[in-house]
Amino acid sequence: MIAASRRAVVFTGAGVSTESGIPDFRSPGGIWTKYQPIDFREFKSSEEARRETWRRKIAVDEAVSQAQPNRGHRAIAHLVKQGKVSSVITQNIDGLHQRSGIPDEQVIELHGNGTYAACLDCAKRYELAEIFAAFRLKEDPPVCDCGGFIKSATISFGQPMPLEAMRRAQMESKSCDLFLAIGSSLVVYPAASFPAVAKQSGSRLVILNREPTDLDYLADLVLNLEIGPTLGDVTDVE
Ligand SMILES: [Zn+2]
Repeated sequence: MIAASRRAVVFTGAGVSTESGIPDFRSPGGIWTKYQPIDFREFKSSEEARRETWRRKIAVDEAVSQAQPNRGHRAIAHLVKQGKVSSVITQNIDGLHQRSGIPDEQVIELHGNGTYAACLDCAKRYELAEIFAAFRLKEDPPVCDCGGFIKSATISFGQPMPLEAMRRAQMESKSCDLFLAIGSSLVVYPAASFPAVAKQSGSRLVILNREPTDLDYLADLVLNLEIGPTLGDVTDVE
């Protein structure tokens, strides 16, 4: 199917990154099942919620900041480089697709990016290392020069989906002839609507995930296999 495709799109979820040692926060035992998630409204209205958000961010970052792209990331990057895959739509916030060599403009991040922070008002970018260092002094939640609150550049629970990323993902899903859904359980909406959009537009759909998904019935091919080894073998990438 990859060989026959003229324009493929890859959609990735947490399963691609678990093979790099990044835990799936939504899975049983994941951080979001241990702690009550702090939603966006709370973050904006409560200094204590902002403090707790930054405490958690530092704890998570210590666990995942050493993660490297794995064979699955490399195989996807290879398909992008070959011109087979036009875009990678991802639910992941770890930046590992970019680190594997895919240009920024070909990665569509539906849930934002956790490797830097940004002001909620003026969108100024801040690097985590400087934010963490300042936070550790007195645990004061960081504030931008403009007075806006600084938050990890991810999309929190209750925060609106990024419109431009959603629009691009929709367009890519409509115009591809092969949609590869990889490492996602395809249950988080609206992200999980894209495979159906692709299918309705005449694309073929392949689902590669360790467990069955809710959209298996739509797929032309379902592979319940490990991601890195499977994609690596298909693309001849180590
Ligand atoms: Zn600002």
